[in-house]
Amino acid sequence: MAGAYDDRDGKIWMDGKMVEWRDATVHVLTHALHYASSVFEGERCYNGRIFKGVEHSKRLRRSAELLDMEIPFSVEEIEAAKYAMLKANGWTDAYVRAVAWRGSGEDMGVSAKRNPVRLAIAGWEWGNYYGDAKTKGARLDIAKWKRPSPETIPSAAKAAGLYMICTMSKHAAEAKGCSDAMMFDYRGYVAEATGANIFFVKDGEVHTPLADCFLNGLTRQTVIGMLKEKGVTVHERHIMPAELEGFEQCWLTGTAAEVTPVGQIGDYSFEVGALTLDVAASYEKLVRA
Ligand code: PMP
Repeated sequence: MAGAYDDRDGKIWMDGKMVEWRDATVHVLTHALHYASSVFEGERCYNGRIFKGVEHSKRLRRSAELLDMEIPFSVEEIEAAKYAMLKANGWTDAYVRAVAWRGSGEDMGVSAKRNPVRLAIAGWEWGNYYGDAKTKGARLDIAKWKRPSPETIPSAAKAAGLYMICTMSKHAAEAKGCSDAMMFDYRGYVAEATGANIFFVKDGEVHTPLADCFLNGLTRQTVIGMLKEKGVTVHERHIMPAELEGFEQCWLTGTAAEVTPVGQIGDYSFEVGALTLDVAASYEKLVRA
């Protein structure tokens, strides 16, 4: 399977039915396209089981609620739809993308109460999100855009609007030959990458930004749990940019990124060290357990 994402063979689940891939379309006067009234999930299915599938479905419904939308499907129905989509495409290992949005309806202004909330679930086969960075360590740029305050935007939602600055930051990073960008938050603290959370190691202990203005990723929470089980001390706290100098190792976590080592952020270098490799291997084992 290759080529443009709207021109492939396969099936996509849409509003309760399985449709042909190329027929999974929306009208140009769709509220979400104009006003970012859209939330989504990225999930991975390993050996026929979606890792933390129920948690992702719950987060999808919660993200929608934060945007004043109610998805007209329960967590159980969303779960069944995801597996039905995987089965219809014959996949046991795939990335799953659920997306809910305000469709076309009687409203075309900012208000959209009369427009239906729609849901689609698609998937595709997706290897390493950062290519060979998995072994070598990714190179990150430092983004000029800052993660906004939770008083500015519902930052706990996995909402399309939050990705506008991510796409711009990632384009700027790629233009410099980097894989991604690390973002600071509105206060100047280290926050996360454009689609993954960040961890640092110093003197055998782990430090990760407090998720108080960005997505507290399910992978982040899984990795923190794993580290604690291994007896590693984890500090969830505000991290100042000047501290980057003193960290020895760094990795990113996310459903797509899994656990990806980071070799460089701007002018700061990190080693792909033993703890990073251990966490990456443990995560790979856990998702297939
Ligand atoms: N932050 C952002 C901005 C993301 O897009 C993602 C990916 N969903 C994450 C963090 C990591 O979240 P998760 O581990 O739940 O995939």
